[in-house]
Amino acid sequence: MNQATVEAHAKINLTLDVTGKRPDGYHDVCMVMQSIGLHDHVTVDTGTGSKEIRLTVEGSDLPADNSNLAYRAAELFLRETGMVCDGISIVIEKQIPVAAGLAGGSTDAAAVLTLLDELYDTHLGEKKLMEIGLKLGADVPFCISGGTMLAEGIGEVLTRLPDAPQTHIVLCKPPIAVSTPAVYRAIDSVEIARRPDTHAMCAAIAAGDLPGMARLLCNVMQPVTAGMHPEVNEICSMLYTCGAMGAIMSGSGPSNFGLFERLEDAQTACHTLGMQYTETYITDFCTASQVKR
Ligand code: ATP
Repeated sequence: MNQATVEAHAKINLTLDVTGKRPDGYHDVCMVMQSIGLHDHVTVDTGTGSKEIRLTVEGSDLPADNSNLAYRAAELFLRETGMVCDGISIVIEKQIPVAAGLAGGSTDAAAVLTLLDELYDTHLGEKKLMEIGLKLGADVPFCISGGTMLAEGIGEVLTRLPDAPQTHIVLCKPPIAVSTPAVYRAIDSVEIARRPDTHAMCAAIAAGDLPGMARLLCNVMQPVTAGMHPEVNEICSMLYTCGAMGAIMSGSGPSNFGLFERLEDAQTACHTLGMQYTETYITDFCTASQVKR
């Protein structure tokens, strides 16, 4: 039996713009994605002898069947490589909030693909794994590579950016469920009042200009999700009151994050928001090399 474990990191969006809609219904996006320290643990065993894929999810009531993206990643890996299943056991220790705009499912799927490539010695490499991962979801290729990236197309056209300057992040998810498809549907019928300046964000990252990055944080989805769930803007206001340099919603929400220069301010914000929202975390940016550890 072979076993390996990785940290499967969450992501946040430093910018998110929706630039068009394709005939197949997918939206074109332009966004800066950033891996963060918050992670699940994913452990895979191969050669368990059972000839099946078995999934266990700890710390969440997510289904452990083939509706779970991690399970589907293992099925797809076997299909793509032609490997015969000699018993695959996957254990996810869930820490990333679910349906939160943090790519929790995508990062577990990315971890399973990466671990199976290692354990079965298939040597697919990052590029091929990203191609396979795209079949599971638009965020999976980013989660395989990680760090700081510009994402275009439906999120799969990735350009590596320099590592972002380090900062303290307070992340807060209110206890509401947001349907990503519903938010994308709603954005088609609203006038987008403010769009991010993604190129300026890329320049601020390259210059290590944290205050500039904080000023440029922008997510076109935020007014849409906040229109359905006022908690989103309330949490951002609380983050600013606690001293955040900038604060926005991540993905289609409902998680929000603030960037803090001083650790003490971040700790106070985490404590203050944590009294109202149990899913509040203090974390930081993660580089690509930290993601691949
Ligand atoms: P994204 O930012 O990529 O849109 P998200 O953070 O909004 O993703 P996820 O946490 O990935 O959302 O969950 C989206 C849906 O995927 C949930 O409804 C959940 O039931 C399902 N799902 C399937 N597998 C997983 C998994 N391993 N972890 C989390 N959610 C999963």
